[in-house]
Amino acid sequence: MKKPHLGILLKPTSSDCNLSCDYCYYRGVREIYPDADRPRMSLEVLEEVCLQYRALEPADIKLGWQGGEPTLMGLDFFKKAIEVEGRNARSGDCWGNSLQTNGLTLDDDWCGFFARHHFLVGLSVDGPAELNGTRRFPNGRPTHHLVMRAAERLKKHQCEFNILVVVSAANVGQPEAVFRFLTENELRFSQCIPCTEPAGDGERLTPHSITGDQWADFMIRFFEAWVAHDDPGYYNRHVDNWLHLYLGLPPESCEYRPDCSNLVTVEWNGDVYPCDFFVQERYRMGNVLEDTLEHMLQGRPFRDFVKRSEQAPAMCGDCRWLWACNGGCWRQRGKLGLDGQAKPYMCEANQRIFEHVFDKLDSLKDGPEGSQLHAFLKDLQRRVASGEFDAVPRERSAAGPAAAGGRGRLRRNDPCPCGSGRKFKQCCMSSATGNHLSC
Ligand code: SF4
Ligand code: SF4
Repeated sequence: MKKPHLGILLKPTSSDCNLSCDYCYYRGVREIYPDADRPRMSLEVLEEVCLQYRALEPADIKLGWQGGEPTLMGLDFFKKAIEVEGRNARSGDCWGNSLQTNGLTLDDDWCGFFARHHFLVGLSVDGPAELNGTRRFPNGRPTHHLVMRAAERLKKHQCEFNILVVVSAANVGQPEAVFRFLTENELRFSQCIPCTEPAGDGERLTPHSITGDQWADFMIRFFEAWVAHDDPGYYNRHVDNWLHLYLGLPPESCEYRPDCSNLVTVEWNGDVYPCDFFVQERYRMGNVLEDTLEHMLQGRPFRDFVKRSEQAPAMCGDCRWLWACNGGCWRQRGKLGLDGQAKPYMCEANQRIFEHVFDKLDSLKDGPEGSQLHAFLKDLQRRVASGEFDAVPRERSAAGPAAAGGRGRLRRNDPCPCGSGRKFKQCCMSSATGNHLSC
C-alpha cells in the first residue's frame, strides 16, 4: 500500500502568544475559541494525535509545533511529548520534530532539550532591528535584542535552526539588508514568506501585506544578493526549491506542489483543519477525540479543500511555468477570496521570478569557472545525471503538474541536494512542515 506523505502541524497553545506582532495571521483563530482564555493542548489529545497519525503509516513522520507561541506550553509538556512519541513509535521509526518560535522563552534548558531531541527550530526575525519593528510586545516594546540572544543560545547548544523572515510592508524594500543581516550574523538557514493577509472581508489586504510585484522584487534582489555572496552554504528555502525545480528534482515546499494534501493542522483541543492558513470553522474536518484522522482525511471537508487547491485556473493551461507554479499557493487564491478561475495573486510575480532565476542559474552553470556557485551547480548536475537523486527530467515534468510534483527516490540519509552538507532528513525533509510558519 502506498504510504501517505502527510505532516502534522500542532498548535498546542492555539493563537496564544507573548507577543503582539502587527501582521500576525493566526490571531483571528481566537474567534473560533472565544471561551478559551488560555488554550493548552492536553496529553490526551496529543496521545490520540500520535496514535492515529502513526496508524496511517506515513512515509515520513513529521510533527511541526507552532502557534501562537508553542513554548508557552512549558518545557515539561514537550518532555512528555517525547515520551508519547516514543510510546507510539515502531521499530525503525524516525519521528521528526520542528518548532517555530519567537525565541523569547528560549533559555539554556530549552536549547539543550532541542539539541538532545534533534528538533529543527525556526526562529522568527524579519532582518536587522530597524526592519523588525512589527514584531513587538503588547506594550509596543521591541524584541530584536531578545531574539538575537535566543539565536546565540541555539548556536551555543548546536541546535539545528533556521530564520523565518516574514516579508511585509516593513522590510519589503530592503532585501539586501535582510540578506546582509543573515550573513553578518552567520545565520546560514533561512526562509522568507510573503505577508498577504486579507483584512477581514476576504478581499482587502491588511496594511502590512505586500503585492505580487513587491514580492517578486524582493525575492529577485534577495537571490541576486545570494549569488553575489557566492556561498552555497547559505541556504534559503525558496532558493533551494528553485534549485530543485531547475535540476528536475521534486520540490520540497508545498507551494510548488500541485495540491495541498500533504498537511493537516491540529488545534489545542483536537480540532483538525487542513493547512494552517485555513483554520476557519468552515474548513474544520473533525476532532481527534471523536473521530479518526484516517476517516477525516477521507471526509468531505478535506477532499473538497484538496480538490479546489489542485485545480489551477484555465488560464494556466498554456503557461510555460505551469510545471513549476501549478497556479501558486492556494493561500494566495482561496484565502484572498479569489474564485477558482481568477488570475492567481502571485501569477506575474511567479513568472518574473522563474524567468529571472532560471536564466541566472543557466548563466552561472554554463559560465566561467572560478565561482563557488559554478562548481556547486556543476556538481549537483553531475549527481542528478548519475541518478543519485532520481530526478524528474524537466521536459517530463513540463507535461503537467502531477509529474512535476511526483516524489523522487531521495532517501532520508542522502546528502541534501540543497548543498547544505546535512543529511536530507535533517534539512529539507524535516522542514517539510516549516513553511506554515506562524509569524
Ligand atoms: S501553504 Fe499554500 S500550497 Fe501549502 S498547503 Fe497551504 S495553501 Fe496549500
Ligand atoms: S505563472 Fe500564472 S499562468 Fe502560469 S501557472 Fe502560475 S499562476 Fe498560472
